[in-house]
Amino acid sequence: MNPSKYNKKMIIYLLDILFPTKCLGCGAKSEILCEKCVQMIRPAERETEEKIIAVFDYRDPVIKKAIWELKYHHKRYLGDRLGELLYEYLMEEISEMKTTVPGRSIYVVPVPVSNKKMKKRGYNQSLYIAKGFCSCGGKEIFELKNKIIWKSKETLPQAKITNRKRRLENVRGVFDIKNSECVKGRTIIVIDDVTTTGGTISEIIKVLKKAGAKRVVGFAVAH
Ligand SMILES: [Zn+2]
Repeated sequence: MNPSKYNKKMIIYLLDILFPTKCLGCGAKSEILCEKCVQMIRPAERETEEKIIAVFDYRDPVIKKAIWELKYHHKRYLGDRLGELLYEYLMEEISEMKTTVPGRSIYVVPVPVSNKKMKKRGYNQSLYIAKGFCSCGGKEIFELKNKIIWKSKETLPQAKITNRKRRLENVRGVFDIKNSECVKGRTIIVIDDVTTTGGTISEIIKVLKKAGAKRVVGFAVAH
């Protein structure tokens, strides 16, 4: 074992003794969201827009808390767990996608945050979900592409806008693509924490398709 790996393991071990992980749902000393609590989270209703799939219902208090903690309380490790769940729950869809791209990896693109938000929060929560998601499939299956899409303009939070049409207008034209050549002919999964009307993901799907991506779908933890 190399020293840095050893140190990291040691730190995790010590942190675990000092601050044992408790489940966000039931408080039991276990992983951050225990299996029992996950099973009780209300599933999201499947949208008619089948290009975007959300797994859980955002009104469920446990999932709401998990996303809140990930987003505002720097609990980035929650992204791992949520990404794992996204993979587990959407395995069927993923298998079907894999069969259409034999021998080629699927690109995974987290929904970006603006530079302003990045400075304020210090990280992009969707990137951590995407990392957890990718780690389940392995390198041959998924390729994390964090730098392809960037948000060039600041927008109002989608959740604060009640009108559907205004939500769509709010995100129109705010995403740009870097190196559009690399997405040509690719199959891509866009990952978000919460989708409201699907406006943000749809806008990114549009940009990627325009650049020549073959197939793009959106996976969100909650709706
Ligand atoms: Zn629990």
